[in-house]
Amino acid sequence: MENIQNKVVIITGASSGIGEATAKLLAQNGAKVVLAARREERLHAVVNEIIQAGGDAVSVKADVVSAEEMQNLAKFTLNSYGRIDVLINNAGVMPTSKLHELRVEEWNQMIDVNIKGVLYGIAAVLPTMREQQSGHIISLSSTSGYQVSPTSAVYAATKFAVRAISEGLRQEESPTSHIRSTLIAPGLTNTELFNSVTSPEVQAMASQVKGIGISPYSIAKAITFAINQPDDTLVSEMMIRPTVL
Ligand code: NDP
Repeated sequence: MENIQNKVVIITGASSGIGEATAKLLAQNGAKVVLAARREERLHAVVNEIIQAGGDAVSVKADVVSAEEMQNLAKFTLNSYGRIDVLINNAGVMPTSKLHELRVEEWNQMIDVNIKGVLYGIAAVLPTMREQQSGHIISLSSTSGYQVSPTSAVYAATKFAVRAISEGLRQEESPTSHIRSTLIAPGLTNTELFNSVTSPEVQAMASQVKGIGISPYSIAKAITFAINQPDDTLVSEMMIRPTVL
């Protein structure tokens, strides 16, 4: 994993699930990882585990819906390590429901976290990466970034948006500033993501598919593969899903 060694990697949503697994796997492979999320105790526990295993990790409390907190996250990373090689825009929420239920607050939450959070992450690191003339921004979409199903209209809209943003970033930045942009699209993965569901109908559906999901380490391995490619090679999109779905 020679192209991961010593890279400075910011991971949003690193307090559980895919973000936590990715932080651990990248640290095992020699990256310096900066973990961000809102639940500080969870972040501290993951950082301690990484350090005890011989890795290099720090954490910062940062809410992705705050452009200011995302700027502070980037500043903290620069003060700690002097550069930013990779941003993983991983934080996300999925309180899905049918549109007629009118869960407007939850629509806003998905738009704020899943779309604006990704944009604020890009805004926080892009000037530094352009100055460095190198960098890699990895954003988490979903199989719902390619297909819509009943109850997923708003969540899918946010993940279609992430796909558009990631592709636009690739077209604008890679030819001139050599900044790589990668879209990761997981299918059903065993994490805490369904905890944000409040619609009884979706909760019932979620309990039916429980157990089919894949390990968050399967997604972490795909992210690790994308980062490890030589600088002239860009993995622009990867979909990783359960074999049985
Ligand atoms: P988890 O719920 O386990 O992790 C989500 C992470 O996002 C948590 O660490 C949470 O931390 C963080 N987060 C949520 N809201 C905010 C916020 N406002 N600011 C900062 N961090 C926030 O779920 P996953 O690991 O599954 O989710 C990771 C990504 O993968 C998401 O973008 C999700 O949409 C995507 N995905 C997941 C799939 C799955 O089946 N699990 C399938 C397809 C895509 P905290 O609460 O501490 O802030």
